[in-house]
Amino acid sequence: MAKPGKGKRFDARPHKRTRAITWSEDELLDGKVVRAHVLLIQTRGCSWSKSSGGCKMCGYSQDSYPGVDDSLIEAQFASGMEKYKGEPVVKIFNSGSFLDPAEIGADVRQLIVSKIAECGARRLIVESRPEFVTSEAVADLTGFDGMKVWVAMGLESSSDLVRERCVAKGFSFADFKKAADLLADLGVGCKTYLLLKPPYLTEREGVADALSSIADSAEISGEVSVNPMNVQAWTEVEMLWKRREYRTPWLWSVVEVLKVGSTKTDARLISAPTAGGKPRGAHNCGECDERVLKAISKFSLSGDVSMLDGLDCACKDEWKAAMELGDLAFSTVDAKRFHNW
Ligand code: SF4
Ligand SMILES: [Zn+2]
Repeated sequence: MAKPGKGKRFDARPHKRTRAITWSEDELLDGKVVRAHVLLIQTRGCSWSKSSGGCKMCGYSQDSYPGVDDSLIEAQFASGMEKYKGEPVVKIFNSGSFLDPAEIGADVRQLIVSKIAECGARRLIVESRPEFVTSEAVADLTGFDGMKVWVAMGLESSSDLVRERCVAKGFSFADFKKAADLLADLGVGCKTYLLLKPPYLTEREGVADALSSIADSAEISGEVSVNPMNVQAWTEVEMLWKRREYRTPWLWSVVEVLKVGSTKTDARLISAPTAGGKPRGAHNCGECDERVLKAISKFSLSGDVSMLDGLDCACKDEWKAAMELGDLAFSTVDAKRFHNW
C-alpha cells in the first residue's frame, strides 16, 4: 500500500495556487471569430458544494483550497493578466460563483472587472449561481464604456424534477428566471449552461430534456451552451460510470440537440464537449469522433447549422438503437461496457 504523499491519490490533491491558469481560445464576437483570454482562478470553493456536497457531476471542489483569501485571488488575477495580449474577450472561471462574496470579496471582484475594462476588453464572461445575482453584485458589472459583462449560470435543465433529482442543483427554474430577468434589467448578458444527459436519464430522455430546456430558456438567454456530461473525479456520476451504470452521451446526441435546438431558439447555441471523444466525455465509436467534434466546433463558432450536415458513420445505427433500447429496458446501464466486462 502506498504511503501517504507517495500514492497517485495524494499527488492529485489540490494545492494552493499563487498564479492563475490561463489559456487562449477562439470565440465569436459580433459575428466574427476573435481570441479570448481565459483565466482559471482558484478560490475557497463553491458555497453550494461546501454546504450540501454539491452537484452530482461536479468535481470542482477538488480544485479549490480553503486558505485562498482575497489577496491571493488578486495575485492570481495579476499573474493571469501578465499573459493578456489584448484579446477582445476575457473569461474568468473560478469553479464556483464569481458573484459569491464568500468566494471572492466584493472589493476584489470590483477591481478585477474594472481592470479588465481598462485593458480594452469588449466582453467579459464570468460564472455564478443565481442566488448571488443581486442588484448590488450586478451593479459592479455595469457602467463600462465599450465592455459588456455576461454572467453564465448553470441551469442544467429547465425541469425542476431533473435538476433536483438528477443534478441536486438546489434552485428552481423560477429562481433562475428571476436572476436572468435582473441581469436583463441591468443590461448584463445572460448565458445559460445546460447539462446534456444528467445521470439516471436514458440517452433519449437526455436529448429530450436538453431540447425542452433550450426552448424554455430561449426567452431569457442570449447564449446557450450545451454541455455534454463529462465524468469528473470523486463524484456520484463517476461512481455510476465506474460501475458501468452510466454512459456519457453520444456525440450524435450532441449533434441532434444542436440541430433541432437551433430551430427552438434565437439565442446563440454552442457546445464545446469537455473530454470529447474520450470515455469520460461525449464520444462515438472512436473512428468518427474527431470529425464530429470538428463539425460541432465549426457550428459553435459560426452558428451555421449546415456545418452539422453530412456527418455519418457506421456507429450511427448503434446510437439510434441506444436511443430506443434504454427506454425499452427502463435502464441507463452502459450495456456495451457491461458486455465487454
Ligand atoms: S456545478 Fe457549480 S454549483 Fe454545482 S457544485 Fe459545482 S461549482 Fe457548485
Ligand atoms: Zn463512428
